[in-house]
Amino acid sequence: MSFPLYLDANATTILDPRVLEVMRDHWNQPLGNASAAHGSGRYAASIAEDAEDTLLDTLGAHHYDITWTSGATEANNTLIAALASRTQHLVVSTIEHASVLRPVQHQMQHHGLDVTWVHCDADGVVPTRALIEALRPDTGGVLLMAANNVTGALQPINALGDALPPEVWLHVDAAQAFGKGCILSHPRIDSLALSAHKLHGPVGVGALFTRRGADLPSLLHGGGQQQGRRAGTLPVPLIAGFAEAARLAQQEEELRRQHNLALRQTLVDFSRNHGAQILSPLTSCLPNTLCLRFPGLEASLLQAVWSPWVTVALGSACAAGNPDPSHVLMAMGLDAQAAQEALRISWSFQTPELPWRELSAVFQSVRRQIA
Ligand code: PLP
Repeated sequence: MSFPLYLDANATTILDPRVLEVMRDHWNQPLGNASAAHGSGRYAASIAEDAEDTLLDTLGAHHYDITWTSGATEANNTLIAALASRTQHLVVSTIEHASVLRPVQHQMQHHGLDVTWVHCDADGVVPTRALIEALRPDTGGVLLMAANNVTGALQPINALGDALPPEVWLHVDAAQAFGKGCILSHPRIDSLALSAHKLHGPVGVGALFTRRGADLPSLLHGGGQQQGRRAGTLPVPLIAGFAEAARLAQQEEELRRQHNLALRQTLVDFSRNHGAQILSPLTSCLPNTLCLRFPGLEASLLQAVWSPWVTVALGSACAAGNPDPSHVLMAMGLDAQAAQEALRISWSFQTPELPWRELSAVFQSVRRQIA
């Protein structure tokens, strides 16, 4: 076993060698431009079409157009710009990822979009009722992630789907939830943002699913690819890798879930024995995520002393370099000091047993030094 063990799977996952194999096969053959009319181009287009079918199958919903993007960030940006072009008012949760918050704020500043922000509760869950109560007659859409990247808290997508009036667009950022056994097939979901590198697929490819036939403006203009939904040559090997990663995640869903839950239980027991407060809502949480804090101990210190053994995150990787405490933890009611003590530990089916003895020894030595 080689150390440090990687425990930051919510930032990105390690590419599955089986996915690499599929992509290598495509890179090793003369693959045309998927927009070209000749045989080699048509073959490339057929690989992307097969990938589309695979993704729709794994989602268990077939009423979407898929727009291939560079990742979930682009998928969220595309959808938000499109929604803002045709509506005055959106309802958005305050615990969304920066790739939702920033484009929404941009639309507010530059295009006069009006937004009602909805907070989560102390468990990091956004109440359905609060979202519904925030609706106005001119509300064009609601943005709610399926699972939070910092705490793993699952959000009430299905309850919201049941309660939302049909004319209000429901967009779900499912970058963290997809491929982890979460049900994302509610018929009221109008669009979904996905990312391949969160489920052991390649970095650099994602998807925006939109209700079939929805006429949304493109963010990128150019060659008119993807029926005008997004310009740019399709990265066919990456798309095939994304589909393979999704297929494997579905095929191995129960195995991965059991592995992740078992590791989480051991981690929870270990952390509680060392005085941790668990911040993730364990009964409604991604199986691979644990957010916790050791009161009185700066998380950055623990991150540093554990670093020869494990790689853990302080908060969202996208906030790296930003000294502000996590907006998600603050929204849950933690004060700035408590939020600075929070660690996010996230793993996957690839993660082996952790070096508990070493982690414990280092932890106790730090505790003694700062006592
Ligand atoms: N949405 C969520 C919830 C995420 O956790 C992330 C990445 O951390 C993103 C969106 C952005 O995904 P990508 O890296 O594919 O742009």
